[in-house]
Amino acid sequence: MRRSADWDVPALCLALMLASNSAGAQTKPGDWLAKGFEEASVREVGREEWGADATPSEDLALSLTLVRLKGSNWTEERMLRHVRRTAAILSACGIGLGDVEIVAAKAPGGVHDLDMAPGEGLPAPRAVLSLASRVPEGAAWPRVFFLGRLRGDEALARSYRRGAVSPQEALRYPYMNTAWVAFKTHWMERKDEGYSTLAHEVAHLLCECGHEKGPNPHLLHEYRNFLSGEILTKHCGLMRASPLVRPSPQRPVQGLGSSQRFLYHP
Ligand SMILES: [Zn+2]
Repeated sequence: MRRSADWDVPALCLALMLASNSAGAQTKPGDWLAKGFEEASVREVGREEWGADATPSEDLALSLTLVRLKGSNWTEERMLRHVRRTAAILSACGIGLGDVEIVAAKAPGGVHDLDMAPGEGLPAPRAVLSLASRVPEGAAWPRVFFLGRLRGDEALARSYRRGAVSPQEALRYPYMNTAWVAFKTHWMERKDEGYSTLAHEVAHLLCECGHEKGPNPHLLHEYRNFLSGEILTKHCGLMRASPLVRPSPQRPVQGLGSSQRFLYHP
């Protein structure tokens, strides 16, 4: 699921985003506490935990900050299941995982369900913006919250990408590349066991695209029964062009195509 509009992105926001992403996942518990979280533990997920090869074939890498809200029923193992599936799904596009940081945090007031009522005049629900704005600056993009329920929302997950607000407003919301995954996705049955809601939301953010119909199941299909771990070739192309992905540190980059990704690098 996705809510966004199609405006351009100010270069400043993009520069800030890339600057923080290039440093990888590097937050400390104190960074989260300073932002108002009541408890926080942070750990880097080892490459072996998502089944990465010693010499990966992917030429691009995506870093992730995954926040598990205390009280949401998400466990680290349940999240890692999504990370492993997401790694397998993105691999088909030549995108591996980079730095993956898991943060277990107690939100201010112990909140683990979010009120998804639209904020009047705001690009996302007030609760979403409030929590997203508390993520420390050093956290890698995109950021994904694993939480309890999205109250008042039929969707199981939502993502809000950069460009969802006007260029002027974007300076106030530089943290829009954030997804929200409800616990219901953990036990909701899917026809394709290789499918992952995490991969689905990340795909929205990377390709800056919505759902698509079609005769065959795929990752961003409009109908839930048609969701699968397969990615359409055109979505792969869009995802690979995202400024959120970087040349893989595990694999030397070759060719002009990948270097063009640095056009906006500060
Ligand atoms: Zn979706």
